[in-house]
Amino acid sequence: MNQDQVEKLKETLGPLRILENEPLSKHTYFKIGGPAKIYFEAKSLDDLSLALETALANEIPFVVLGAGANVLVSDYGFEGLVIKNQAASTKIVGFKGTYSKHGRGIRNALVLATSGTLMNQLARFTLDQGLEGLEFLLSVPGTLGGGLKINAHFEVERDQFIGNRLVSATLFDPKTVKTKTVDSSYFNFAYDYSRIQQTGEIVLDATFRLDKAKDPSTLWQKAMDNVKRRNEEQPVGIACSGCIFKNISDQNAIRLATPNLTTSAGYVIESLNLKGTRIGGAEISSQHANFILNTNNATSSDVLKLINLIKDKAKNTYGLELKEEIFYIGDFSQES
Ligand SMILES: Cc1cc2nc3c(=O)[nH]c(=O)nc-3n(C[C@H](O)[C@H](O)[C@H](O)COP(=O)(O)OP(=O)(O)OC[C@H]3O[C@@H](n4cnc5c(N)ncnc54)[C@H](O)[C@@H]3O)c2cc1C
Repeated sequence: MNQDQVEKLKETLGPLRILENEPLSKHTYFKIGGPAKIYFEAKSLDDLSLALETALANEIPFVVLGAGANVLVSDYGFEGLVIKNQAASTKIVGFKGTYSKHGRGIRNALVLATSGTLMNQLARFTLDQGLEGLEFLLSVPGTLGGGLKINAHFEVERDQFIGNRLVSATLFDPKTVKTKTVDSSYFNFAYDYSRIQQTGEIVLDATFRLDKAKDPSTLWQKAMDNVKRRNEEQPVGIACSGCIFKNISDQNAIRLATPNLTTSAGYVIESLNLKGTRIGGAEISSQHANFILNTNNATSSDVLKLINLIKDKAKNTYGLELKEEIFYIGDFSQES
């Protein structure tokens, strides 16, 4: 990125609103990552669109960061514009049924949220409205934009995916520099997959259809029970990026005769006796083997070495190609 491009960003986004050489370790759950050449916080969709348009018009490499809960950023950082999406808002934009003061008679409602809204906030909003369908997102880290890219989920076997409740979304297409509205089928949602992983489109906002809960008073309890379970099963309070690998396919679970045909990548890693393995400041969690923890100032290189160790051992032992759930940001060519 050259000085002219930096000046262009200053001019358009405001010199006081951009940071140069901002450490991305401050903006990721892993607490890992070198500097962003330029870092900008988009507080609204207008900010987000302006930053994207400016980057594209000036051929500046860019990446949109949500909450940084599903990324590994290189120690060498990102030599371009990092746009941290903080465009957060939620509102009800329609409902079916008859409206009364306490919402009685409503059958379902449409909720519109901007893509920088935290999924936890979205869950709280819908729970407070007595709306059912996204309560499993309570306490799941990340923004709506990041969530739609990975099709965020909780209990996969109970079909709890964010994409299931999506009606439509507004996307920014970097190839055409235009926005478009698409319905949920456009995303081709599957486990840990949505089409925007291929197209690189950016989510601006999204609309969900949620049912009025039959018994709103038990909704919060149901959501809190999930949170409790998550906190029992996953490491809490240690820097990490959630699950590193996608679960394996049903066919591989059958081939390997896993217990109860579990597809859990965590089970696979545990069965390779890798729990607790350390490289530098990074460690494979002893509690949940699909989590790599930054226990002691880990570098992205430490994490990458553990990832490669797991992949190699899974390949050599089981003939399995484990695939990352996390996304890489920056240049990893100098890391091994
Ligand atoms: C402790 C912990 C527990 C977790 N538990 C769960 C869980 O139970 N279920 C689950 O599904 N996930 C879980 N995760 C993973 C994480 O919560 C999700 O992947 C979440 O969707 C990440 O969102 P984000 O905003 O942080 O995305 P980021 O990490 O910021 O970005 C991830 C990717 O999305 C892209 N992106 C970000 N915003 C947009 C946008 N607006 N449009 C297009 N692309 C965008 C980024 O460029 C990047 O490629 C967990 C993570 C942690 C740290």
